[in-house]
Amino acid sequence: MRFICDSTLGKLTKYLRILGFDAISISNLDALNTYKNLVDPPLLFTRRRKTISYQPMILIKTNRIEEQIKEIENSIKPYINGNDFMTRCIECNALLESTEKENIEARVPEYIYHHHEEFKVCPSCKKVYWEGTHTKHIKKWTTTLKPLE
Ligand SMILES: [Zn+2]
Repeated sequence: MRFICDSTLGKLTKYLRILGFDAISISNLDALNTYKNLVDPPLLFTRRRKTISYQPMILIKTNRIEEQIKEIENSIKPYINGNDFMTRCIECNALLESTEKENIEARVPEYIYHHHEEFKVCPSCKKVYWEGTHTKHIKKWTTTLKPLE
């Protein structure tokens, strides 16, 4: 499932990526032209109140991330898959790739290197991820959101 978030929804975009969703961030609504004629256009989350002809769209009312999550909860719940958690780069939405531990030794703190076996790397920005990177975010999520059985 793909989503588009306007640039005022930075935190929400990151949460969607943590859950493994393809979450595109756009700073200019003209970018919607790229998607609106697709057979299956991504669902847009936006706080912009000016008239937008794009569909499907959900207008986000609040500024607080906790409230925003509640606003989109029903829209994303059917698509949540626990296997997809932590498969995307939070910063650039790219799918993370597994990497040999040796490859990232110089790029993570020594303690982390010695206490983790599995690392993933973003092919786009090269950020290194390990189990725990997303943990404090994901804990908050999983208490309110559970994948459907
Ligand atoms: Zn990245």
